[in-house]
Amino acid sequence: MTQTERERETETETHTQTVTVRVPAKVNVQLAVGAARPDGFHDLANVFLAVGLYDEVTVTAADELRITCEGPDADQVPLDRTNLAARAALELARRYGIDPAVHLHIAKDIPVAGGMAGGSADGAGALLACDALWGTNASREELLDICAELGSDVPFSLVGGAALGVGRGEQLRTLEVGGTFHWVFAIAERGLSTPAVFREFDRMNDGVRIPEPVASQALLDALAKGDAGALAGAVSNDLQPAALSLFPALADTLAAGRAAGALAALVSGSGPTTAFLTPDVESARTVADALRASGTCRAVRVTDGPASGATVL
Ligand code: ATP
Repeated sequence: MTQTERERETETETHTQTVTVRVPAKVNVQLAVGAARPDGFHDLANVFLAVGLYDEVTVTAADELRITCEGPDADQVPLDRTNLAARAALELARRYGIDPAVHLHIAKDIPVAGGMAGGSADGAGALLACDALWGTNASREELLDICAELGSDVPFSLVGGAALGVGRGEQLRTLEVGGTFHWVFAIAERGLSTPAVFREFDRMNDGVRIPEPVASQALLDALAKGDAGALAGAVSNDLQPAALSLFPALADTLAAGRAAGALAALVSGSGPTTAFLTPDVESARTVADALRASGTCRAVRVTDGPASGATVL
């Protein structure tokens, strides 16, 4: 074997023993919630937009399954088999009869329990990374099927871009986006549990006839045109009253962003992260400065969307 062949072989080995996948956070530009179903889930019309805050999941062959996490919220991430990244690896391994002995390392930049699908991102990332590491070559449909089993937001973390989710949110239709949207995210002092927000939604709507959730055509058109002004007029989140009821101080954050010129201010998903749509990157910086100065949140991030879905680096 020549030196070049040996180098190439070593490189291939290194490649197949460690895989890193980058996965985006999401904001729901529309979250329409239907009445609770008998199984406890709610039918949703959920318009997801992936944005440029990312977790990176690195998978390395190891003696046994273990998980580590780094990042500002790392202490809030479970490091056992309840972690969505571990559940994804275990499910793929089960289906293909593989020993799930891997070290999963999560470099976490997406706020935990923030309504930005951070755990879902890690599930989708670990799935894609394990598929590459183990050479399972699962089809896109099978990967999406595993994602849907893991949670309602996980399929979208895999595909990214923009999509309409119906059912529990897991049946996806990819949407066209005609431009870049600029966003500011205000990260709250504490998290909110998604099930608790849905319970509060049910409590607040007790006895109310809730219409079927449908996607707004005006919103889909605004996305397709890349028109931030039109999108701002069409965004909605049916979970926002419930999130505000559990976390009333979020109203101050929303007001601070609006006063600084945001075109739209809304709670992201089940919250408590708040999202501010701005016409351009300069106004995003102005809104971000105002939010920082307001003292109504823990951290502020400026980014844009749509972002690509889970990607092997
Ligand atoms: P969503 O927007 O999908 O409702 P979220 O962004 O509000 O979710 P996550 O960050 O996904 O919330 O965390 C919700 C809970 O999930 C955490 O409190 C934690 O106990 C659990 N969890 C499981 N796996 C992970 C993970 N890899 N990263 C973060 N949390 C995880």
